[in-house]
Amino acid sequence: MHPILKPALRRGWRDLNTVQFGMTPAHAVVLGPVDTATGSFLTLLDGTRGVPLLREEARRMDLPDGHVDALLDRLCDAGLLDDATGGGPAVEALRRQRGVHDRLRPDHAALTVTTADPAEGARRLAARRSSRVQVRGAGRVGALVASVLSAAGVGQVDVRDGGRVEPWDVAPGGQPVEAVGERRDAAARRAVRSVAPDRPPAPDRRRSGPAVEREDGAGEPRVFSLVVIAPRDGLSVHSPDPASAEDLVAAGIPHLYAGVAEATGTVGPLVLPGGTGCAQCLLLDRTDRDPTWPRLLAQWRSGRAGRQVQACDVGLATAVAGLAAAHGLAFLDGELPSSTGARWEASAPGLDWHARPVWPHPECPCGAGEGGNGQEVSVGEGPHDTMAE
Ligand SMILES: [Zn+2]
Repeated sequence: MHPILKPALRRGWRDLNTVQFGMTPAHAVVLGPVDTATGSFLTLLDGTRGVPLLREEARRMDLPDGHVDALLDRLCDAGLLDDATGGGPAVEALRRQRGVHDRLRPDHAALTVTTADPAEGARRLAARRSSRVQVRGAGRVGALVASVLSAAGVGQVDVRDGGRVEPWDVAPGGQPVEAVGERRDAAARRAVRSVAPDRPPAPDRRRSGPAVEREDGAGEPRVFSLVVIAPRDGLSVHSPDPASAEDLVAAGIPHLYAGVAEATGTVGPLVLPGGTGCAQCLLLDRTDRDPTWPRLLAQWRSGRAGRQVQACDVGLATAVAGLAAAHGLAFLDGELPSSTGARWEASAPGLDWHARPVWPHPECPCGAGEGGNGQEVSVGEGPHDTMAE
């Protein structure tokens, strides 16, 4: 182990004996009292020295025997210590891929902030390389979600959609303008590859042969760690069709909804089948609360204005895609983000994000609402608003 004080956390001395690691309240830690000798010893924890060498340096600084080990334990318990060399074979393989690791350095640094154990951030980053995610929908939101996941180090990102790229599908980071007229799924997969960290930095287009598109795309959904459902159609965002996730619920695949309807962006719910509320739960709950819901839904479905272009603010779509990708990454990294069993929504022009719980419904076949088996998920909200959402 080569201990290093997590460089991502900015250091500041609150007084002569108290040091604060990190600026933001979510992750800042205050350590004290720290005497002057120990304070200067901290500067040696930069990842260039192993523990035996650190003990030697401490002796030279007249620090008592055992001081180094006790200090390292204390820093470790406080979640402030990283390991510049450890992490296991997957981490070592990633470190050897210099170019890939350089691309992901800020993401690695972020993971060191949100994890406690030394090298855990690196382990999670390396684990993303073996994750498989499918994104269903390749419009302004879906194509960008897919690209962001790829850029964040997710090893395999598959995209599914039908039709061809329309001019209004184009968005920064998602479908490029050159793709207009091409197949949506193929164009989005190419966008995904173009931002993947292991893509060579300066590709020579003239030398590369014709792009080979994978026609099958997905295969068995069981292989995916997560599926992101990002419909281009506003109604499918506002009132997700349970049928479109039936295969995922049946196979137990976690899935996350994201999209824009009219001028409202939605991220969530992240559905853990059988554990948290699903699209069918949402539909049943809405029907319980508002008996006219099915009537409205039937009209919205039949009244779909053919080929009319849907409202989708590109700024809101980009925010939705980024937030959805971040929630998805948190889940892939082993956490339960706040979209688990909840929908985060923001409406222009106020754009204040707020969460609405998606309660497991006792009559839903997904089983999340059955006799207390449902996962308790707190989203920090008061009682559910009974007005039409
Ligand atoms: Zn359900």
